[in-house]
Amino acid sequence: MKTFLLLGANLGNRIQTLQRAVGLIAERVGSVTQQSSWYETAPWGVTDQPAYVNQVIAVETDLKPDALLEQTQAIEQQLGRVRFEKWGARLIDIDILYYDQEIVLTKSLTIPHPYLHQRRFTLVPLAEIAPNFEHPVLQKTSRELLAVCEDESEVVIFNF
Ligand code: AMP
Repeated sequence: MKTFLLLGANLGNRIQTLQRAVGLIAERVGSVTQQSSWYETAPWGVTDQPAYVNQVIAVETDLKPDALLEQTQAIEQQLGRVRFEKWGARLIDIDILYYDQEIVLTKSLTIPHPYLHQRRFTLVPLAEIAPNFEHPVLQKTSRELLAVCEDESEVVIFNF
């Protein structure tokens, strides 16, 4: 199964954290077949915190959605996520955007990710690596979702 994951880091050495997360995902989730550029993004929700660096990756996995979530949460914890408040600062956040074309609605999982189409920091990197992947509920491609997205926050390629 092909899954798309959104990685976000906003504390410490953000690029190193993203690279570590990609390494752990390759070990425990499956082969990482695509990686978007790194994008720096204005923080969402709580605005008095450092900017995020976001990246979307595609992973070929044999894990079922629940097992996938368990692994991504274990990786978040291993990399030292500290949860201070909802929407607040954390070392690394991993969201499951898509799991092939499947629709998953359980207590712990909503796939496609419910905010995917509302956020430029998700759509910009997603459209970079998968412009023609179709959202199974909204039936629009990443490129089409980005074109109609009303979020105006700035998402720019990360420069060292
Ligand atoms: P957050 O604080 O945004 O990282 O949210 C984490 C919670 O969202 C977890 O407890 C998950 O069970 C839940 N969740 C629901 N759908 C998803 C998804 N598609 N990807 C990641 N977490 C999800």
